[in-house]
Amino acid sequence: MWSNVIHLINEKRRFILTTHTNPDLDALGSEIALDEYLRSLGKEVSILNSDSVPGAFRFVDPERRLRTFSPGRHRETIREAEVIFVIDASGGWDRIGRVGNALADAQATVVCIDHHPDPVDFAHVALVDPDAAATAELIFKLITQAGGVITPTIARALYLAILTDTGSFRFPKTSPETHRIAARLIEAGADPAQLYKQVYEQYPLERVRLKGYVLNSLRAEADGQMVWCALDQATLKAYGVAPADLDGFPGLGMEIGGVRVSVLCVEMPKGRVKVSLRSDGSVAINGLATELGGGGHPSAAGATVEGDLAQVTAQVVAGVKVLLTTGQSRRCPATVP
Ligand code: AMP
Ligand code: MN
Ligand code: MN
Repeated sequence: MWSNVIHLINEKRRFILTTHTNPDLDALGSEIALDEYLRSLGKEVSILNSDSVPGAFRFVDPERRLRTFSPGRHRETIREAEVIFVIDASGGWDRIGRVGNALADAQATVVCIDHHPDPVDFAHVALVDPDAAATAELIFKLITQAGGVITPTIARALYLAILTDTGSFRFPKTSPETHRIAARLIEAGADPAQLYKQVYEQYPLERVRLKGYVLNSLRAEADGQMVWCALDQATLKAYGVAPADLDGFPGLGMEIGGVRVSVLCVEMPKGRVKVSLRSDGSVAINGLATELGGGGHPSAAGATVEGDLAQVTAQVVAGVKVLLTTGQSRRCPATVP
């Protein structure tokens, strides 16, 4: 499975790593780990992302390896790149955002390493395993198959990625292999207590208060099988929290017994709504996310949709209701719930 990629790594010298918009810690941790490994081989590596690192995740990059793409500054880097690694993102160049447009025209070989079950026809080489709980599991396998050493930096970055993408080892894709890899990362220098604290116990007071607001605003539908919340820009501004800092909020409704699907809709600038869907695994919600122009995993998916917050929320809530009663994913007309 890995020999093509290992061959490319050995043969080529200039690499670009990139990931999806609104990057999470699986995306960023996987990039940092692969960057560290490639640099240990003496390669030239640039990590170019469309979005800057959300405030809550800055600790993951003390050496400031992650760069926000700028067309003027990075044109030459893209022109000279021999291999582009697209990490934790399939579905097409759009998913990568602004830098995706620039990379789509590059001459380099494109390698996609991911665990999303979305199309990968934009890549020359695709290493996709939808059973992996995090892309970081695949990066771990690549590095170890290639004979690389898991340094403490790699161990920390990959552990953070797995910790967060598995919802602290509880989401359905968490497997014995996930735990075996986590064990190896701990042996290589990842400190579970310290890393957990860094991710989950360093929030500003405003974000914790906003969490209280979201919990208070949850609305139940379909006999309590679904809960949803719509967050508008005014509320986000009043609490002083950016949309990029809402990681974990979509799943808050899953704490309630009987809930199969939890929905969070967040009003974004420029008339768009970021839809996040979470499921307990009894119903796959990525079909609905794809209908809405996004994608994702059966139990965690999302989309960014043009439109008004109330209308989009109504459409999504109606779609989830259909899903819960028929198991069919359908884009529904909006009826205000
Ligand atoms: P989120 O709700 O933003 O935390 O996203 C949950 C999952 O849904 C992500 O891990 C992605 O797999 C997927 N996802 C979210 N937004 C999009 C999108 N616009 N396009 C494709 N997949 C998405
Ligand atoms: Mn991700
Ligand atoms: Mn992931």
